[in-house]
Amino acid sequence: MAKDQLMNYEQALAQFEVVIGLEVHVELNTKTKMFCGCRNEFGNEPNTNVCPICIGLPGSLPVVNKRAVESAIALGLALGCEIAPTGRFARKNYFYPDLAKNFQTSQYDEPIAFEGALQVEVPSGKVFDVLIERAHMEEDAGKLTHVGGDTGRIQGAEYSLVDYNRAGVPLIEIVTKPIFGAGAEAPELAAAYVRLIRDFVRALDISDARMERGNVRCDANVSLRPIGAEKLGTRTETKNVNSLRSIERAVRYEIQRQAAILAAGGSITQETRHWHEDKGSTSAGRPKSDADDYRYFPEPDLVPVQPSKEWIEEIRSSLPENPAQRRKRLQTEWGFADLEFRDVINADLLDQIEQTVAAGAKPQSARKWWSGELARLANAEGKDVSDLAITPEQVAQLAELVESGKINDRLAREVVGYVLAGEGDPAAVVAARGLEVVSDDGALIAAIDEALASQPDVLDAIREGRMQAAGAVIGSVMKAMKGSADAGRVRELLIEKANQA
Ligand code: ADP
Ligand code: MG
Ligand code: ZN
Repeated sequence: MAKDQLMNYEQALAQFEVVIGLEVHVELNTKTKMFCGCRNEFGNEPNTNVCPICIGLPGSLPVVNKRAVESAIALGLALGCEIAPTGRFARKNYFYPDLAKNFQTSQYDEPIAFEGALQVEVPSGKVFDVLIERAHMEEDAGKLTHVGGDTGRIQGAEYSLVDYNRAGVPLIEIVTKPIFGAGAEAPELAAAYVRLIRDFVRALDISDARMERGNVRCDANVSLRPIGAEKLGTRTETKNVNSLRSIERAVRYEIQRQAAILAAGGSITQETRHWHEDKGSTSAGRPKSDADDYRYFPEPDLVPVQPSKEWIEEIRSSLPENPAQRRKRLQTEWGFADLEFRDVINADLLDQIEQTVAAGAKPQSARKWWSGELARLANAEGKDVSDLAITPEQVAQLAELVESGKINDRLAREVVGYVLAGEGDPAAVVAARGLEVVSDDGALIAAIDEALASQPDVLDAIREGRMQAAGAVIGSVMKAMKGSADAGRVRELLIEKANQA
């Protein structure tokens, strides 16, 4: 395939206005599926969570999952939406092998929630209003695995396998109105919006919200129009992007790709596109016109959903703290500077730090550990920091050991390695391995004398006020004691010695 021409990003923004629209699918964590009693569970043997309803056998009758409706109402309310007093399900007809019914049960002209709004803060600190058109309930499709071939896609595959465990799992799809005015920050806004939605569904505890498992996934619509033009440009829809970083990159890529085509006098094809994480590019999927006809019609096997006013108000009154307010509250409580706090948000460390502080650590040392050493280790292993085998309680204990002077930073990093290797809590590791800092004067003085033997001029230098000379001796002592010396005490002892001599 020919490589896309890309226009330089700044140049593209000088010529075109960016318009984006985001569709986010949230997979709910209900015990059972949307319309049947099959378990809604990730990672089971293929085709074990299936029944006549979710594989669409003739004569089977669906029943709506009340918990899923409750989740949809809660999310709708949290996003500032109106809740429809009555809402019907509809059949969206299409053939696809992972959807055995030949239609998806969804909502069309009567979504459960509509007309919401969110304020979304981007990394620069700017806040954008994002208008939400609708949030509707639907069911997920199964999962196809294309075997053979090297892309994992159906083209070039030898055969395909289908697993219906996910077919019928409840989804909420949240669709924004077109978003204008984000300019160069459109990619960041797209990612920040999805992050906020993810934080909402986490706070509501209605989804596992693990993006890498596809619990939250985003279709990113992007179009450009010449600056000053009224008419919206033709959009592309990059499908199923499932990490925040990828969303940002995919939107940015589409801006540069579309700009190059438009500037050369070409036109954009309205189509879906695939995001390729490895190449950092998108490629054409299927053409998709607004007039695509799914022959939606009301689902005759399900009665309309008619949540009572009382039920809606009951759900409203039990909504958790809004994630945006929670961020503000924690920043104030912790006393983090704006930049520090923004880094915490962008690295997704809020939960870890909150739990570490709750376990007794000072906010700054919790931040230091999670955004420093632990982020580095997670990154090196290609993992999420929350998947590291260390708990916030253990990090709090580690910070306390450093704070009290029992271990220094270097030893603490060593301790982290042993905790991750499963050797137990930091305090236990320190005890078992004898990793405490040596601040015993006798041992330190002996090591200092040894170091001075090969650097006899150092004492004179210190007396003359050239303190940098002390560094070499502290370094030698550290080395001799394998990093376990209390560096502060070594320095004190050295100065005492220089002044006595
Ligand atoms: P589809 O069935 O194609 O997925 P939806 O209505 O579900 O359509 O979602 C389309 C998304 O694209 C919405 O978020 C909408 O605001 C957005 N959108 C519509 N037109 C444009 C455009 N010209 N440029 C960018 N985004 C657009
Ligand atoms: Mg859509
Ligand atoms: Zn079933």
